[in-house]
Amino acid sequence: MDANETGSEPVAPSTIDATLWAFLRGDMAVRDFELRVYSDDGLETVFGAALYLALISADWRDRHVVAELRLLLEAFARPRLACECITLRDVDVVPMGFTDRADRFFATVGPRHWHDGEEWWLFAARCSMCGQHWLGAQDEQTYDAYALRRLSPSQGKRITADGVWPDEFRTYERVLAVAGGFAATAVPLAE
Ligand SMILES: [Zn+2]
Repeated sequence: MDANETGSEPVAPSTIDATLWAFLRGDMAVRDFELRVYSDDGLETVFGAALYLALISADWRDRHVVAELRLLLEAFARPRLACECITLRDVDVVPMGFTDRADRFFATVGPRHWHDGEEWWLFAARCSMCGQHWLGAQDEQTYDAYALRRLSPSQGKRITADGVWPDEFRTYERVLAVAGGFAATAVPLAE
């Protein structure tokens, strides 16, 4: 099926996939995820008996155990992905090389709408699968990486329709701080 011809609306990820990736990408505390595992009795159907048993019988205080569970959960979750968006934090970095992650991300996110002023590194794009808007900055000088920032639909539309860009990544210093992994925290953006 040609994705361009389906004409379907973007599909939001299921609640369990949203929870799973919030945990895997580090936006949900281990303890909160553990409590969710104990409290949601529909998870056995989702995960299957073997993975579910591993989750409910694990010692979640042991970080080596948690690291192994993360691998199991990612192996379970990754084939369910329609796009890479849900795997990324609100502010995140995707390297240009090393892995195929950038290829996977840009397979559904695009075309890139480039800033036509002095901020030549800046672009905005939307995912054709889930509808997520992204602000991106391309750093080919120091880290060979894309710094990415999740945007609300109104923020994304304001860029493409009105040429109004948010403050994030407007300085190259900020791009380098994020691309180099020194500032993965989102700064608030005006709605
Ligand atoms: Zn997406």
